Amino acid sequence: MSCVILCLMRISRLLMPTLRETPSDAEIISHQLMLRAGLIQKVAAGIYNYLPLGYRVIRKVENIIRTEMNRAGAQEVLLPFAVPAELWQESGRWDKYGKELLRFQDRKGAEYCLGPTHEEVITSIARAYVRSYKQLPLNLYQIQDKFRDEIRPRFGLMRGREFIMKDAYSFHASPESLDAEYQNMHDTYCRIFEACGLEYKVVEADSGNIGGSASQEFMVLAANGEDALLSCTGCAYSANVEAAQSTLEAVEHRPVTEALKEVSTPDKKTIEDVAAFLKLEPAKLLKTLIYYYKTGAQEDYTAVLLRGDQQINEIKLKNYLNADVVALAEDSAVAKITGVEPGFCGPVGLKNVRIIADNSLRQMGGGAAGANKKDTHLLNVLPGRDFSLTEVTDLRLAAAGDKCPRCGAPLAAIRGIEVGHIFKLGTKYSQALNAVYLDASGASQPFIMGCYGIGVGRTAAAAIEQHFDENGIVWPAALAPYHCVVIPANMHDPVLLAAAEKLYQELLAAGVEVLLDDREERIGVKLKDMELLGITSRLVAGKALSSGQVEFRLRHSPQNELVPVEAAAQTVLQKLAELK
Ligand code: ATP
Ligand code: MG
Repeated sequence: MSCVILCLMRISRLLMPTLRETPSDAEIISHQLMLRAGLIQKVAAGIYNYLPLGYRVIRKVENIIRTEMNRAGAQEVLLPFAVPAELWQESGRWDKYGKELLRFQDRKGAEYCLGPTHEEVITSIARAYVRSYKQLPLNLYQIQDKFRDEIRPRFGLMRGREFIMKDAYSFHASPESLDAEYQNMHDTYCRIFEACGLEYKVVEADSGNIGGSASQEFMVLAANGEDALLSCTGCAYSANVEAAQSTLEAVEHRPVTEALKEVSTPDKKTIEDVAAFLKLEPAKLLKTLIYYYKTGAQEDYTAVLLRGDQQINEIKLKNYLNADVVALAEDSAVAKITGVEPGFCGPVGLKNVRIIADNSLRQMGGGAAGANKKDTHLLNVLPGRDFSLTEVTDLRLAAAGDKCPRCGAPLAAIRGIEVGHIFKLGTKYSQALNAVYLDASGASQPFIMGCYGIGVGRTAAAAIEQHFDENGIVWPAALAPYHCVVIPANMHDPVLLAAAEKLYQELLAAGVEVLLDDREERIGVKLKDMELLGITSRLVAGKALSSGQVEFRLRHSPQNELVPVEAAAQTVLQKLAELK
């Protein structure tokens, strides 16, 4: 096994509070099983104790990450959990980050936050110590607690408030050097999740308003995953729906030649109602949404136009506007801008408001739209003729069945759990913090940066979502808290006890992470606990010992195998080696 954590462990001495019942507040399987197996204990919403067996799993994930990050040339550091406000004020995030940032004061009234991520702190290290391009590139990482006061902490370690993250940050003197390190981290992450025994996909992610295809997420595929993904059925394109692009099946639109015509549409406010009433496909309607947006102290409204059968992707809108906040406008604001309540708004005659149209409008030959008049719509609305298309961009939420932007094959919907995220940051933080180096000509330049995160606890939880059965967790061997348990079938039979003790000692000596179940419990209880915990293999010294045999079983295998007691330790070693 890649990460051996050896220690003597008799289960009678182990803090292992397993539960028979599923705790009522645990909704998803990984949370239920982590609580039932006694791996974690809730202290407060989104805050957990890692109990001995749970912490072993966490350490295994950490060790895999550490091994691969070190191999990739990154250097481990440890930054403080408590971060002074000044650093966050320099980057401008102190005011922007919102309520997820837990702020507090020390006894002198100085302000701090608990780091939710550490760009500022790490940039201050480079600013202090990296003077010359000759010291670049540099990649520093840590494995450390983060705090984010999530609105809805839930699902156990999946979305905690205090959680362990591996975060890495790289510094470069050229975009090419950043590209190379980004690829290095991509490949390193692939090795990490493979070593964890997980099935995952790398998807295009929203990279905020920095732009480009400079951000990818590592998704563990699981039916319960919080993230909706679109994956091409014809090529390797996969993307978080937040960022996914697509092309649409064109709806047949003849360019209209008829003039605009008003129709009465009493109380028909939704696309579905209007479409049914006018006997038009939703795709032949034009949807107009009025949005409020705010950038810094600047506030404004915009009208967003989409084909009627399409939904808005607010993340794309936010990025396009370079806004901090976007939200559908209040009815009163809509009335002020369009003269009518939502449901009857349209682009024709709309003045004094910025109009942004989705790409799909380019192929619209004409359609129906709100008339900016109560209970009224317009027919034969032609983009370009009846209103001008000045700002046209991708604003749609891509959906399953749309066509892949790369190859045109249909996109399929799948779900995933975001366990890792890699990101090209550029000079956002180095410029804000005035973190510079001297280039070959002696000129000072801001560092070009990348950042790379992995959720440690979330990775462990995701492993359970992917690997469980009706009896409990079936850990990938690399993450299992122990690899073998030796169980005497009857605690009152000295022959069985002696045989079990001997096997336990042999396995320990061979370097196997092994438990001895020496509890005064019935064999049935012991087997259930070990299955719940997902211990990789077990040896039971029972009846067959009279003919010199013990029972061997791998957690994921459906049946027992009888092996000669003298060969039992060897069998365990061999079977575990095969799982590597
Ligand atoms: P999410 O979209 O799930 O809120 P994020 O995009 O805000 O996550 P990042 O800032 O990219 O997260 O953090 C890096 C990694 O940290 C994520 O890929 C995820 O694995 C992990 N992570 C983020 N938030 C949490 C949390 N609340 N609990 C556990 N792990 C988390
Ligand atoms: Mg992320």
